[in-house]
Amino acid sequence: MTTLTLVRGDITRQSVDAIVNAANSSLLGGGGVDGAIHRRGGPAILAECRALRASRYGKGLPTGQAVATTAGDLDARWVIHTVGPVYQGAGSDPSPLASCHRKSLRVADELGARTVAFPAISAGAYGWPVEDVARIAVETVRDTETAVEEVRFVLFDERAFAAFAGQVHRLRHGGESPLPPGSP
Ligand code: ADP
Repeated sequence: MTTLTLVRGDITRQSVDAIVNAANSSLLGGGGVDGAIHRRGGPAILAECRALRASRYGKGLPTGQAVATTAGDLDARWVIHTVGPVYQGAGSDPSPLASCHRKSLRVADELGARTVAFPAISAGAYGWPVEDVARIAVETVRDTETAVEEVRFVLFDERAFAAFAGQVHRLRHGGESPLPPGSP
């Protein structure tokens, strides 16, 4: 049984076995959560990313795939880098985003990670509406067979946190939307 937990905060401050990075295909760093992970994790992460570019991923990590490196100075054993899709407008194919979650959990299983923190992949620079990201992320994790015991979604802002909380509530309570604060 995988427990889903939600935290509002900075993913680089989490103590978990593996931290998922919303990377870009170059694996060489970027803005948002990627920049934060490399800043706080130190140069060891980038060194392993460069080695991956020089070996398995000469053309970069494809969208929807995942690969692990050391977590450097972070309070984790691994960073799992995954590349989310860029939003193409209404009707965008959700399957690459689902794949990011599935493949990240598969990598976590291969490593033996039991606690894994995810950011809201593709909800920043890649432009996906956070409500869609939350639905796809929560449903995919629920539907994926894994030995991971805790999946912790770490949401940076209140809007993302509310979107994920709404989805978790919907799954637990059979499709109703959560009551607004102060409801009887
Ligand atoms: P993408 O390029 O996949 O959209 P971003 O890093 O731009 O990735 O944004 C993904 C999500 O991560 C956004 O909701 C953003 O607010 C959030 N984010 C940015 N920094 C952090 C952080 N340090 N911890 C957790 N989430 C973060």
